[in-house]
Amino acid sequence: MIKVDEHGFYGNYGGAYIPEMLYPNIEELRENYEAIMESGEFKQEFQTLLRDYVGRPTPLFFAQRLSEKHKARIYLKREDLCHTGAHKVNNTIGQIILAKKLGKKRIIAETGAGQHGVATATVCALMGMECTVYMGEVDMARQKPNVERMRILGAEVVPATSGSKTLKDATNEAMRQWINNPVDTHYIIGSVVGPHPYPEMVARFQSVISEEIKIQLQEKEGRDYPDLIIACVGGGSNAAGAFYHYYNRPEVRLVAVEAAGLGVTSGKSAATTVLGKPGILHGSRTLLMQTEDGQVVEPHSISAGLDYPGIGPVHAHLFESGRGEFVAVEDEQAMRAGIELSRLEGIIPAIESAHAFSALNQIKYKSDDVIVINLSGRGDKDLETYIKWGNY
Ligand SMILES: *Cc1c(COP(=O)(O)O)cnc(C)c1O
Repeated sequence: MIKVDEHGFYGNYGGAYIPEMLYPNIEELRENYEAIMESGEFKQEFQTLLRDYVGRPTPLFFAQRLSEKHKARIYLKREDLCHTGAHKVNNTIGQIILAKKLGKKRIIAETGAGQHGVATATVCALMGMECTVYMGEVDMARQKPNVERMRILGAEVVPATSGSKTLKDATNEAMRQWINNPVDTHYIIGSVVGPHPYPEMVARFQSVISEEIKIQLQEKEGRDYPDLIIACVGGGSNAAGAFYHYYNRPEVRLVAVEAAGLGVTSGKSAATTVLGKPGILHGSRTLLMQTEDGQVVEPHSISAGLDYPGIGPVHAHLFESGRGEFVAVEDEQAMRAGIELSRLEGIIPAIESAHAFSALNQIKYKSDDVIVINLSGRGDKDLETYIKWGNY
C-alpha cells in the first residue's frame, strides 16, 4: 500500500521536521486540509476551475509515429495543454481555494526557475489575493522572463540574498516569512515535498491526472490501466499525480525518470535515487544528495524543474520498496528525445518532460504494451536552451 500514515510517513520517508515556531501553521493545515478537500463546496469550485480555467480534462493522445518508432502503443497525457503550460497549476488552484477557505489573505511561495512562481502568481491574480514570491538573486538574473511574468500578474518578487542565492535560500526566506505571519498567510509549496501534509495534499491535487487517464484509457483501449506509465521526477508532483490511482495496481509498471545531468558520476547530476542518502530536506525525511557530513550537494540538470537535490518522500518509498522503477537520463539524451518528439508528433516538450521520453530507450517492454507518458509541460519556456544546445 502506498498510503500516507497519520504522521505523514510513506514507509520510512516523510513526516514533518520543522522548527517549533512553524508548528502552529503546519498544525492548522494538517487539521483542516482533509475536511476542506472532501467538502462538496470545495470539490465543486476546484472542478469548475479545472474545467473552465485550466482546460481539463487534458487530452490523452495516441502518438502514432512515436509508437511505430519505439514499437509499443504510446499515449501522451497532455499536461502541456494546461493553462500556463504545465501541470503545476493543478496544485496552485487547489491550494488557493484551500487558503481562501482557511480565511487567508496573502500567499507566499518560493520558486527556483520561476515556473511555480508563475503558476502561483496566476491563481493569486484570479482570486484577488496578495502574492509574494521569494526567489534567489542568482535565479532572478537567470530567469528574467519569468520574473517579469510574475510582475505582470501583480506579484511582488523578493530576492533571496543569502547563501548561494538560489532555490534553497528562497525556501528559507519563505519559511521565515511564514513564521512571522502565521494568521493571514498561506505558503503554497509547488511539489510533493515539504513537511506533512504538503506531499500528500499536492499529490491529491495532481491525482486528477491519473483519474482522467483511467477514464480515457477505458474509452480508447477498453481497460482503465496501461502496462507502463512514465513520468519525470524533480520533486515528483507530476509523477505522483500520474501514478496516484495505480499505486495499488501491480499490473501497472511505474517508471520514474530522474535527471542524470552530465552523467551520474560527473559530479554534475540530479539523480537522487542513484546518489542520495536518507536525510532531512525541506521538512521531510527523504533521499537527498549530500556530502559525508550531511551538507546538501548542489544538483545539476539542463532542465530547471529537475534541478533539485532530493525527491518527495513518496518517491523515496516507491524506490526503496521496489514499486517504482527509477531511470536516470542525461542532459544530452533528453535534448535528443525532445527533438525526436518535435519531429515525430509536432509537439515541442518541456525539457523536463523530454527526460520521460528518453526513458523509452533505457527500459524493456513488449511490443503490444500500452505506455502512457506524462507530458508534463510545453517547451516554449525552454526555447533558449534548445537554441543554445543547437543540435537539431
Ligand atoms: C516543475 C516541472 C517539473 C518538475 O516538477 P515535479 O514536481 O517533479 O513534477 C516537470 N515538468 C515541468 C514541465 C515542470 O514545469
